[in-house]
Amino acid sequence: MECNMMIKGCTILTMDRGRIIKRGLIAINNERIEYVGREEEAGDIKAERIIDGHGKVAMPGLINCHTHIAMTLFRGIAEDQEVNRWLRETIWPLEAKLDPLDVYFGSLLGCLEMIKSGTTCFCDMYLYGESVVRAAERSGLRAVIAPGIIEAGDRRIGEKMLAESVRISEKYRCYAGGRITTRLGPHAVYTCSLDLLKKVRDNASSLKVGVHIHLAESKEAAIRVREERGISEVSILDEAGLLDSNLLAAHCIHLSREEIGILAERDVKVVYNPVSNMKLASGIPRIKEMLDLGVTVGLGTDGPASNNALDMFETMKTAALLQKIYYKDPKVLPARKVLEMATIDGAKALGLEDITGSIEAGKKADIILVDMRKPHLTPVHNVYASLVYSARGCDVDTTIVNGEILMENREVKRLREDEVIEKAEKTALNLILR
Ligand SMILES: [Zn+2]
Repeated sequence: MECNMMIKGCTILTMDRGRIIKRGLIAINNERIEYVGREEEAGDIKAERIIDGHGKVAMPGLINCHTHIAMTLFRGIAEDQEVNRWLRETIWPLEAKLDPLDVYFGSLLGCLEMIKSGTTCFCDMYLYGESVVRAAERSGLRAVIAPGIIEAGDRRIGEKMLAESVRISEKYRCYAGGRITTRLGPHAVYTCSLDLLKKVRDNASSLKVGVHIHLAESKEAAIRVREERGISEVSILDEAGLLDSNLLAAHCIHLSREEIGILAERDVKVVYNPVSNMKLASGIPRIKEMLDLGVTVGLGTDGPASNNALDMFETMKTAALLQKIYYKDPKVLPARKVLEMATIDGAKALGLEDITGSIEAGKKADIILVDMRKPHLTPVHNVYASLVYSARGCDVDTTIVNGEILMENREVKRLREDEVIEKAEKTALNLILR
């Protein structure tokens, strides 16, 4: 067999059926994985390029199922505040000043951070979705872009944002050779009317794209929705016809047991964002109950303003610890399950499980190499535990997306690191001053 690239000598976590392959070999041709298995059983494979994987773990790239990457520009700008004040006094006024170029430079910084910390695929909901598409395209990352729709009591604004979200979703639903896809992104039930949500459903089904929304994140908003409209956020989504397998719902904190049951029944996908939930004191979603009922749960960082990083290793560790303390049970959310949530389950949540999320022949090569020769990663008794509880984003040595090396030996290839940082820094400062 002849191929473009071969990774040799690594330990491989396939994350498909939980295989751990010692002294493994991965052969990649063009964008796809051609072979994965033990080096000695690989037969005669010739590659133009050989990557030495000794001392490294090869695993599927991490999937960040919920973020707003352009919010890197607001990293650290308003800290330790009550969420409503945080949004109304700082975030929303700054967002009103944003232009497409600001969002592009902020998004590019987010992409750089993700490449450097082992994320190969992300799902983003934000303003100026076309700028996020451009940044994803340039960075080489796999992305699902959900241009945000927010009505907040003004029908005309809602209609305008829906039209723009539909335009972008249609134009980019299979873009950059399929590396970039789209969803419609209604912000939340409390910021969109039932009428608008119904239009979102109609447009999503005719475009054949999914929908991404914030659900039951804020207790106060959940109470307000119930007082004003007489029914819960979940019931409103049901009435809008959105409760199905194409819905990706971020947070899902303030839900009744019955409502979690409905999400499970309808195969709604959930994103758990533990760091953001803790920082904004939103609450703790009952992930164990969701998993017990068969809900697909992916992991997300949420935006860098409420995290303040895009490091999925940190998110994995926090995801596990927060559930353990919530249920007062250290057996809840074991390391291997957390790693599944950050890889194959994340791919399922985004409807991309045939393409990414595991290292299997036939799938696209979205792979990271983690350098295990570090004091905090020695010794390795349980590789899942080492990756979830000890590893950090900066331990990622190599990031490959769609068969292309985006970072090798921590050197980023497509993007000029210093340029991206400088542009984003200028953009953030300029935004505050103008
Ligand atoms: Zn969010």
